[in-house]
Amino acid sequence: MAHAWRDAVPLSDEQRLVRDSIRDLCGEFDAAYWRERDREGEYPTEFVDRLGEHGWMGILIPEAYGGAGMATTEAVVMMEEIAASGGGFSAAQAVHGGIYNTVPIVKYASEELKESLLPEVADGEVAIQSFGLTEPNAGSESTAIETTAERDGDEYVVNGQKIWISRVDASDYVVLMARTTPREDVDKRTRGISMLLVDLDDAYEQDALEVREIPKSVSGFVHSYEMWFSDLRVPADRLIGEEGEGFYQVLDGLNEERLVIAAECVGLGIVALERAVEYANEREVFGGPIGANQGVQHPIADAYAKVLAAKQLVYSAAEVLDEADRTEAGARANVSKYLAAEACFAAADAAVQTHGGFGVAREYDVERYFREARLTRIVPITQQLALNYLGENVLGLPRSY
Ligand SMILES: Cc1cc2nc3c(=O)[nH]c(=O)nc-3n(C[C@H](O)[C@H](O)[C@H](O)COP(=O)(O)OP(=O)(O)OC[C@H]3O[C@@H](n4cnc5c(N)ncnc54)[C@H](O)[C@@H]3O)c2cc1C
Repeated sequence: MAHAWRDAVPLSDEQRLVRDSIRDLCGEFDAAYWRERDREGEYPTEFVDRLGEHGWMGILIPEAYGGAGMATTEAVVMMEEIAASGGGFSAAQAVHGGIYNTVPIVKYASEELKESLLPEVADGEVAIQSFGLTEPNAGSESTAIETTAERDGDEYVVNGQKIWISRVDASDYVVLMARTTPREDVDKRTRGISMLLVDLDDAYEQDALEVREIPKSVSGFVHSYEMWFSDLRVPADRLIGEEGEGFYQVLDGLNEERLVIAAECVGLGIVALERAVEYANEREVFGGPIGANQGVQHPIADAYAKVLAAKQLVYSAAEVLDEADRTEAGARANVSKYLAAEACFAAADAAVQTHGGFGVAREYDVERYFREARLTRIVPITQQLALNYLGENVLGLPRSY
């Protein structure tokens, strides 16, 4: 029954293989494992290592560089399954960066860098888990970043502050976005931003990086940090792609990534619903199972309809995304992310309500799923910004910024 929900969309042979392999692997990490990670705030190293051992961190790396050479559709299956396994959105987030940071490197890094780095990333020996864009004065308005990277001989010198950068503790490198040309010297604010691969050990050795963890209420085992860079020297050959074009390079992979986030929301919605149904069938009040009451049943059925619809949207978008032009790809990715976040919120909310008092007890996990579902309305972009995209780029409404 439970798996029939998860398998509601027909899969290709390759996708089935991905789903079954990930399902088996996730089966080694039960609810108690995730509960413990959440309670202790410990990064799930064993889980991520297992994925690495089996080559899953290289799912999007071409075979020529030691990866599996798969595409968005397979990444969608993988990440939905991780979340649906019980790990939730946070388990998916624990590896999401490591998988998606390889995309700009594959597309834009020098051949030398790709050959030296990517095989080790695919094997799970090296982690590029962190992506550093957000700053105190640049969240939704990402082109407002103030961190600078000034060229000095064959190095860049980086100064500035980042905030909310996840998995710095679990990463060897951070893909860092910095201004190489001041905002006032470029014709468009999207220009003059560059992408650098920063070696974290080297940064600490230079005494040019300070980090501070941000205490937060959700995803307790995927830590997020503030970072301060002072005169960090980065070799110029660690520039990814073209100087000044970094913002466009990020945009390039954004729709695929957003769609995979939507798949993670679907997985979270599924596991929340499974828990809701289980409890609604088991718990007896007034002489019968609470699930017999339509006040309990309908919110679960309503959320099921929403999660299933979101799942179908995600999978149909994944199939056409590679062929779609940028506006259509953006429309499908933003619709999917928006609706999948709302659907998993409805599912997690129904799961908490169904559990009554135990809805807030840690041992039943649904309170964690609820906190995570709330977060999906904020990251990686907020729901409002997803709607802005649809309003302005798809429906032709006036721009608000
Ligand atoms: C747990 C967590 C992990 C994160 N990990 C990373 C990471 O690894 N790397 C990274 O670079 N960033 C990361 N972020 C940052 C995240 O991408 C930003 O928080 C997000 O983009 C929103 O930016 P902000 O927080 O500055 O909100 P703001 O931009 O300050 O917005 C505040 C509110 O105003 C709304 N708003 C702003 N402008 C408009 C508008 N024009 N129309 C309608 N509404 C608007 C927003 O939707 C939001 O609700 C993470 C954040 C969190 C919470």
